[in-house]
Amino acid sequence: ASGLMAGKRGLIMGVANNRSIAWGIAKACRQHGAELAFTYQGDALKKRVEPLAAELDALVVGHCDVTDGASIDAVFAEVAAKWGKLDFIVHAIAFSDKDQLDGRYLETTEENFTKTMLISCYSLTSVAQRAEKLMTDGGSILTLTYYGAEKWMPHYNVMGVAKAALEASVRYLAADLGEKAIRVNAISAGPIKTLAASGIGDFRYILKWNEYNAPLRRTVTIEEVGEAGAYLLSDMSRGVTGEVHHVDAGYHVVGMKNPTSPDI
Ligand code: NAD
Repeated sequence: ASGLMAGKRGLIMGVANNRSIAWGIAKACRQHGAELAFTYQGDALKKRVEPLAAELDALVVGHCDVTDGASIDAVFAEVAAKWGKLDFIVHAIAFSDKDQLDGRYLETTEENFTKTMLISCYSLTSVAQRAEKLMTDGGSILTLTYYGAEKWMPHYNVMGVAKAALEASVRYLAADLGEKAIRVNAISAGPIKTLAASGIGDFRYILKWNEYNAPLRRTVTIEEVGEAGAYLLSDMSRGVTGEVHHVDAGYHVVGMKNPTSPDI
């Protein structure tokens, strides 16, 4: 524990359960002294999020489905009423129809393309629009992305296209909000077995491949992503914005399968 984030108040969006990356980030921020507020998506997740929030002495500020602007407004109104201002936001939200996270990208429908982009990309911008008004002393916004934005990955398909747009959004939002000392960054996390990841085809194979071929010869944990997140959300990173920071055991520097790694 440290006082690194003491006095900072942050909104955590995207906890589904105790395997969520957002949960790893929330835990690290709390360890460093931040005060937190959680949103949840729908009643089914409310029951999971409430006890987790209680573990970190956090507020629960309500249901938020990013396809429903009124629910985003309601959550920010609640934060404004409780705290008056906001210092940081974790945006750990993505969705695409499971049947299109398998096979060919070519098969993506217009309907699922639009839905995937709205939930997984535009939602960062809609959240940033509301955050600008509450981040009166500057702030830090963090989102989550994946290497499938930069390079083709099997099965990642439309989500890779959405993450590429999300990473571009990070740069544009960083430029727009920089004058107000609001920073916008992303962590590109290596594969982690979460609820969202279970929708991706052959995910176990992807985990193994990373384990054998990443420079650190392993995958990463939500705690490791969490601590890198705490850095990007705290003043330690005050000179950093518009950045995509890889927390992937180094996998993104690898150009070819390691000849000494086992076959899968
Ligand atoms: P997760 O299932 O724990 O979290 C995904 C969250 O998105 C859930 O809390 C869910 O409620 C929320 N969500 C989905 N649709 C929503 C909507 N319409 N409105 C509001 N919330 C919605 O899985 P996770 O792996 O922790 O995912 C968090 C982020 O990390 C995602 O952006 C994901 O793409 C990214 N990421 C995951 C991995 C991985 O391997 N798990 C790797 C890199 C990046």
